[in-house]
Order: sequence, then structure tokens, then C-alpha cells
Amino acid sequence: MNIDFEYIESEIIDQYLHDDNPRPWIIGFSGGKDSTLLLQLVWNALSKIKEVSWSRDIYVVCNDTLVENPRIVDFIERTLKSVEKAAIRQDMPVHVIRTRPRLEDTFWLNLIGKGYPAPSNMFRWCTERLKINPTTRFITEKISEKGEAIILLGTRSDESATRARSIKKHAIHGQRLRKHMLPNAFVYAPIKDISTNELWQYLMQVSPPWGGNHNELVTLYRNANSGDCPLVIDETTPSCGSSRFGCWVCTVVSKDKSMDALIENGEAWMEPLAEIRDYLVEARDNKEEYREKVGRGNRQLPEGQYGPYKASIRSHILEKVLTAQEEINKTEAGTQLISNQELIAIQVQWYRDGIFSHKVSDIYNKIYNKDFKMGKHDEKFKKEEELLSKVCNESTEQVELIQRMLAVQKAKTLMLRKRGLQNELENVLDQYLIEKDKK
Ligand code: SF4
Repeated sequence: MNIDFEYIESEIIDQYLHDDNPRPWIIGFSGGKDSTLLLQLVWNALSKIKEVSWSRDIYVVCNDTLVENPRIVDFIERTLKSVEKAAIRQDMPVHVIRTRPRLEDTFWLNLIGKGYPAPSNMFRWCTERLKINPTTRFITEKISEKGEAIILLGTRSDESATRARSIKKHAIHGQRLRKHMLPNAFVYAPIKDISTNELWQYLMQVSPPWGGNHNELVTLYRNANSGDCPLVIDETTPSCGSSRFGCWVCTVVSKDKSMDALIENGEAWMEPLAEIRDYLVEARDNKEEYREKVGRGNRQLPEGQYGPYKASIRSHILEKVLTAQEEINKTEAGTQLISNQELIAIQVQWYRDGIFSHKVSDIYNKIYNKDFKMGKHDEKFKKEEELLSKVCNESTEQVELIQRMLAVQKAKTLMLRKRGLQNELENVLDQYLIEKDKK
């Protein structure tokens, strides 16, 4: 190894002891090789100084997008538990923080609920919602508590040309910290000069101070033939693009090489996930067949542009996800791909979007052979439907048209914004007549 890891640890100690008013350190931890090395070096550095000098809290922040590869989630969770236990055992000022997107920001609510097309380079709506916002919320919370915070990142100059440029651009000569775009936040990248070879040599030779060894990490990388998806805290962090452990639903990359490699290397239970991912690409690109010709809220779109997924496609994707979940749960891997809160939120969103021909509970009950009810939401709309059916003399087409119009009106009421209501109602009517003509 050319690089002197002890020297890096001494730099970390120097930086840790530097402040009169110790600003908290926030370590972005993704469970991948870079953030693992970073945490290990910080931990070792801290172990070398006396307990009395542990004046600064260290937060190990790990974000779960809720659509991470389940195999990787399982591995990360076990690592985090070991870190938590070791921190208590060794009385270290290290705290594990798990962040996740808000319900309204989750991947499935936006894709299946609102019909957002699967992400692409042109419309990458997910990174901010799934990755940047949850960690930023925690960082800003700490800043408002402590005044300032220092974010430690496992970025390395040889990782990619973009990352090298990004590090160079922000480094202030002679200083270890660079300014982050969040007010009162600074970035410290202690392992920026370590090459990938040096990193692997170190991890294979030195066991983690929280116990165990790095064999599973090495095997995962080997089997997934992959790089990792770093903690993403702003748009300059190269996220999620090329080969890495990222969201299993990611359609920004043309092929998920890491998932394909894991399947080839014995994780056959992931096949339904790979199929869903491929279907998402197909549904996104086959615009004419799968997407609406109007935007959300029945907004007219310029020629050649397409809106959200059609109701039938949203419903079909949900069916695929629940079927995959059911299949996987018959295997030892067992996992949850979509939560019950997301299912309820999707149903509410469908009602808001005027989708009454598909019901989340019907899809769920068909797959799980259950009699699951969505509580007050289903009941309320069932009553409304019965009443409308009576008024419309059982003419189902008119019931649906009125329901769609009511949904537009209710959405406007919720937003306390009546402007454009008439236009939107006219658009609903036009769309209804077009659909009727086609039948
Ligand atoms: S990995 Fe892909 S799906 Fe996940 S946030 Fe990044 S770009 Fe979006």
C-alpha cells in the first residue's frame, strides 16, 4: 500500500480536535466500500484519542430510498446494527441515523399513484425526493440545533472524472473543509486521495472496529460486479448513474448490471424484480400506448408530449409489484416491496386523479386472496358510487364522468385554488368523449 492510512487517521484526529465549539460530524454511510472505509478510519482515529476528547458527536446517516436492492438493504441493516452495538459497548459518541423519503415522495406513490413515468436522464424526478431531501432534512435539523455541521463524505478523486472535478472545484487550498451549498454546512473528504486498489487492499487486510470482517462486502461487490451508490446530498454528487448498488427500480441506467450479476451469481429470487424494471423501461418509452395525451390535472400538452401513465398501466404496475412481493415472500429472501401506507396513499391519489375503474384493494385481494378493505376511503367512495348509480339510472359511464369531475373539483378545493376549474372540467369532458368515441 502506497498511502499511509495512519497519516490519514492523524489528519482526522487533528480535524476532530480542531474546533473550540465542536460542530457535529455527519458521515454519509451507504454501506458501500467508500463509506465503510471512511467510517472505519474515523472510528480508528477516535479510538486513539482519550475519551475525554470525544467532545464532538458523530452521526452515521444512512438513507433508505425504500426501493433499494433488498439484498443490499439486508446487508446494510446488519452492518448498522453492529455499528450501533459497538458504539454502545465502546462508549463512542457515534449515533446511527436512518433516513427515508416522506410518504408523498416515495417512488411508488409518484409512479403508480400519480403516474409519473419511470425516471430517465431527461426527467429524473427521483433523486431529490428519494435521496437528497431525506438526508438534507436531517442535516438542516442538526444545523439549526448546533449552528453548523460538517459532512464527511467518502468521495475519492479516482472514482470518476466528474467526481475528481467536483472535489477540485470546491477544495480551498490549504484547508481540509470546503463549503457546502447548504448554509452553515461544510464538507470534509478525508479519503479523497486513496485509490480503489489501496482501498480494497486495506479493507481486505483490516477488520472493521465494530466487529466481524469485510468478507461479505467483498463478496457482494464481486457478485454484483459493481460500484456503490454514494450518499447523495446534492446534484454534484454523481448518483445513481453507472453501475452501482442503487435502487432496484432504476431506469436511468439502460441495464442494471449489478442486479443481473447478482441473479447470475445465485440470487435467482431477484428475477421478478429485474422483470419489473424492464417493464418500467418499456412503459416509459412506449408513450403512445401507455401514457395519457394530457398532462396531470388534464393540462393540454404540446404536440409530441405525453402525460402520466394511463390508469390501466398504473394498475398493471401495482399488480406486478404485489405479485413479485408475494412470490419473493414464498422464498427465504422474503421482503416488502411496497408498504401498506403507500397502498393507501396510492388509492387516495387515484381518487384524486379521477380513477375509479381500478381499486387498490381489488388488486391486492386478487393476488393475496384476501378481503382487505381500505377503511374509510373505500367506504366513502363506495357510498358515493352507489348514490350516483341511483341518480344516473345505473348508467356506469355517466357515473365515472361525474366522479372524474368531482375529483377535479375536490382537488381544487384542497388546494384552495378555483382558477382554471372550468377549463379542467371541459378537458375532462373532452377526454371522456374521445374515450367514448374509441370504444
Ligand atoms: S438510483 Fe436511479 S431510481 Fe434511485 S434515485 Fe438514483 S436515479 Fe433515481
